[in-house]
Amino acid sequence: MTLRNDQYDLIMREYSRRQNAGHSILEERRAETYALIPRLSGIDREISGLFKDQIRQKLLSDIPPDTAALQAKTRALEEERTALLVSNGFPADYLEVPCVCPLCHDTGYMEDGRKCRCFRRLEIDLLYRQDELNEILSKENFDTFSFEWYSDTIKDEATGRTSLDLAKSAYNASREFAEHFDDDFSSLFFFGDTGVGKTFLSHCIAAELLGTMHSVLYFSAYELFDRLAAGTFSDAQDSISDNIIADCDLLIIDDLGTELTNAFVSSQLFLCVDQRLKRRKPTVISTNLSLKNFSDTYSERTFSRIASAYRMCKLTGKDIRIQKKFNGGN
Ligand SMILES: [Zn+2]
Repeated sequence: MTLRNDQYDLIMREYSRRQNAGHSILEERRAETYALIPRLSGIDREISGLFKDQIRQKLLSDIPPDTAALQAKTRALEEERTALLVSNGFPADYLEVPCVCPLCHDTGYMEDGRKCRCFRRLEIDLLYRQDELNEILSKENFDTFSFEWYSDTIKDEATGRTSLDLAKSAYNASREFAEHFDDDFSSLFFFGDTGVGKTFLSHCIAAELLGTMHSVLYFSAYELFDRLAAGTFSDAQDSISDNIIADCDLLIIDDLGTELTNAFVSSQLFLCVDQRLKRRKPTVISTNLSLKNFSDTYSERTFSRIASAYRMCKLTGKDIRIQKKFNGGN
């Protein structure tokens, strides 16, 4: 994905804004804590004095400064500051610059010069306007999910399990998926009727991973294939392997089966699933098609890739509470 200069500038401005916001918060916290614990301002002055001494020694003297001694002094002062903060009921890191992304401290770049994953996320927000998604995620996340929507008496004929039982399995799979996202490569496939919570669970996962600064691309199947047909994701090469679809931390394709299926869609879905598996990039797919229909619609080879590598989660429910929750009461 190539950003235009003005788009790059926009992202870098966002980082400056975050850094400035962090420093303003720090100033407020200093004023607050210095008033309560006067010794803190002395400590901060001594730390910055030590830092200046070090610079001065470097500039004025031929003898290299005793860095180890200066560091030890600084560390002792920092420990005293932490102890004072904690004993007065403040968090230990209260006087460190707060940042949105702890990985890059809101600079956008890692120490080795690579772009941070939060940079990728800002690119996605900028290029694919996922702001509406952020709005939805504030309402639909693991904290707002409820098992009360599911019946513990109505059983699914195929599996013999109740809606509630299936919902618990799908929920646990989603939580595990999000919790072990960085250390355990897996993908999820939600299937079941319309309005049984598949999209809600996808939202829960997206919310969780966006919260940990991952780049998440969320599309309805209709929008995804529409964009693929229009070549939105292609840079110079007209290939799915070189674009953000194959490369983002998590791709979520919602409502597969509702788009107009044709040979193009079918081949693109295969490429997408295949490329992401090869790159060990997790994907979440939801569909209201049955497994048999899915295979018939998108080809046997796509289905077998999914069946072999994705965790399959079925959801059911004809319960009125679910209908009300997910279909607006209709
Ligand atoms: Zn970052």
